[in-house]
Amino acid sequence: MAEQGRPKVVISRCIEFDHCRYNGDMIGNELVRRLKGSDTIEFIPVCMESEIGLGVPRDPVRIVQLKGGSNRLIQPTTGMDVTDLAVEFSEGFMASLKEVDGFILKSRSPSCGIRDAKIYPKVENAAALARGAGLFGGAAKTHFPLLAIEDENRLRHVKLAEHFLTQVFSSASWRKIDQGGSMREVVEWHADNKLLLMMYSQKEMRGLGNLVANRDGLSLESLKIRYGEGLRRAFANPPRCTSPINVLQHCLGYVSERLSKAERDYFLQQLEMYRDARIPLSVCLGVMRSWVIRFQEPYLMRQTFFQPFPEGLLEVGVTDSCEWRDLSDKE
Ligand code: SF4
Repeated sequence: MAEQGRPKVVISRCIEFDHCRYNGDMIGNELVRRLKGSDTIEFIPVCMESEIGLGVPRDPVRIVQLKGGSNRLIQPTTGMDVTDLAVEFSEGFMASLKEVDGFILKSRSPSCGIRDAKIYPKVENAAALARGAGLFGGAAKTHFPLLAIEDENRLRHVKLAEHFLTQVFSSASWRKIDQGGSMREVVEWHADNKLLLMMYSQKEMRGLGNLVANRDGLSLESLKIRYGEGLRRAFANPPRCTSPINVLQHCLGYVSERLSKAERDYFLQQLEMYRDARIPLSVCLGVMRSWVIRFQEPYLMRQTFFQPFPEGLLEVGVTDSCEWRDLSDKE
């Protein structure tokens, strides 16, 4: 199986790293605490408001939409407009990131928010007129449109957390191949990740398969660039909740002849129960994994589908039943 790399993840510094919020607080987050403790991720903590010299504690800033439609970052108590400083810092920071696999940013912040920062019609007290990205969060989305970018609030949803971890660990693992892997290693990486890609997007999986077959005789460098782009497209949205069922039915084809009819029927029944949201996916995965180990089926043994990120990073006992229908709308 492809070696799991150590993802590099930019994180809002006020989430579990520093008391740098406007009021001197730090935000607690169970998942980030566990990820920090596991040491499986290299975090890059950053606080834009501290970096542009606003200090801690400080009076809050807010996004104000001017009449012409442009957004400014303003500190109402002082009337200070820090937009230019914020843009300069954010652009410089994003451009300096040579290796990055994802972002975990603070929800609702006028700086770090990625979708839900309040936008006000004027500096004085008024109801918000809309919600949108903060200046730093918006810059992250613009510079890295297909990268894993989430806020700490959404990561409380187990499926979004799974999706995020799958994205960043796949990205880190591919980065190693991208930075020096041979053609053979690219082919192997694709083979290891085939079922994971199948769960995310059959279309992209086929496209990437054709790419590694390299019928067009691309140079290794060009092929890697196109493969990386396809990979980010494939992982851009969470898989549909029924997608793992197709993959597990595909897996069944590899071990089916060595099973009794009763075992096959039991497994298919479990898949239907998962489809009906009566049991979690982990039950079906556990049964299939036990057969993969029992039969030492080489093609399935190597698949990252069964373990796309290190074990133990998500809370034990959380539900992963098929009760969500579509999480692909990230806005
Ligand atoms: S939300 Fe961003 S800018 Fe605000 S305190 Fe946290 S890290 Fe700093």
